[in-house]
Amino acid sequence: MTSPSTQLSTARSAELFDRARTVTPGGVNSPVRAFNAVGGTPRFIRSAQGAWLTDVDGNAYVDLICSWGPMLLGHAHPEVQAAVLEAVTRGTSYGTPTVPEVELAEELVARTSVEKVRFVSSGTEATMSAIRLARGFTGRELIIKFSGCYHGHVDALLASAGSGLATLAVPGTPGVPESSAGLTIVLPYNDRAAVTAAFAEFGDRIACLITEAAPGNMGVVPPAPGFNAFLAETCKQNGALFISDEVMTGFRASKLGQWGLDGAVEGWKPDLVTFGKVMGGGFPAAAFGGRADVMSQLSPEGPVYQAGTLSGNPIATTAGLATLRLATDDVYSHITTAGETIKAAAAEALTKAGVPHVIQASGTMFSVFFKDTAVTNFSEASEQDLPAYTAFFHAMLDRGVYLPPSAYEAWFLSSAHDDRAIQHVLDALPAAAEAAA
Ligand code: PLP
Repeated sequence: MTSPSTQLSTARSAELFDRARTVTPGGVNSPVRAFNAVGGTPRFIRSAQGAWLTDVDGNAYVDLICSWGPMLLGHAHPEVQAAVLEAVTRGTSYGTPTVPEVELAEELVARTSVEKVRFVSSGTEATMSAIRLARGFTGRELIIKFSGCYHGHVDALLASAGSGLATLAVPGTPGVPESSAGLTIVLPYNDRAAVTAAFAEFGDRIACLITEAAPGNMGVVPPAPGFNAFLAETCKQNGALFISDEVMTGFRASKLGQWGLDGAVEGWKPDLVTFGKVMGGGFPAAAFGGRADVMSQLSPEGPVYQAGTLSGNPIATTAGLATLRLATDDVYSHITTAGETIKAAAAEALTKAGVPHVIQASGTMFSVFFKDTAVTNFSEASEQDLPAYTAFFHAMLDRGVYLPPSAYEAWFLSSAHDDRAIQHVLDALPAAAEAAA
């Protein structure tokens, strides 16, 4: 295995990183961006177009992060850009109801299982609000989450979470009072017996169970067949609400999100769903929604308070609406084909180099684990060869491919990943696999 090296000039990024660290903790505004797990200099991106990022030193990269999921159509899509620019000429925020938020809500209701929806500005707010609503609706306090699932930085959900916490090997965080974390039951993912046992012991105190619809924050770990249906049914039998977190999978795993891959097929519905990322078209927009009788408990209709100065912001909802309207079947088949090509080439290169790996997917979402047996939960995801991923990551970066700087994240593609971008990734893979060997 070769050690991380930087063959590209990164002087300007390094200089900006130094400046950023003086005024911002770790130099970043979200931890995984800092390259803590893989070392080296995070690239400061100056601009992005289609599948490509350009950094402040002038280096170009094929983007396999896609802003951690949102950029389904690639960067600076002309029609999304035009809709946003047109909207901006009419002002940016009024603090009153607007047309695009009604239209985006109608689109979400038409395309998913939810009957009513409320907009917020981040996935964190969506899960936080959904949990408050579930507690208000049921009059109960306990919540269940799965280890390795990340639902944003909500106090009660920062127990054994994936994403940045997995990357930094942090089991929880100071600042979350025991009175909050103590109401969260953390179970192993894909483990029916553990769910049954938790409900047997605490059933009448459990307000809700929240799960990533298909986890992507410990790498992609698909739900075992029927697992989401089992969770929905178990919650129902115990008077608890089933919250499906589709912040990452929504309009990404498939046109109808993860629910389109299992719920719509198996015939079950979550009580509440959270959305974010793709539905904001690259802007801060997120949402939670679900059963009309549950959603009607929200203020001003009901007693559960929830609000936001920029919630349903007209620019963000315009971008989201334009994105969802452009997210046709063709977009998903393009991303599926591109993903198949990259997965096959990665498997071939890693096999040839003798690097243990397993590639897992849920719909169009996939990730590469640097271990040789299937991953069904967080403890199995944690058995990866992290130094091998680090070497692989840097070799790809040196060759102009920007992967997530963590082995615990999904690789994201867009409809703008054309033949040239995909070939660029394929060309980089053999040397990167050798570097990881
Ligand atoms: N839920 C899931 C499944 C996520 O992947 C994320 C973010 O990665 C969140 C919630 C939190 O969203 P945000 O970062 O917009 O607060």
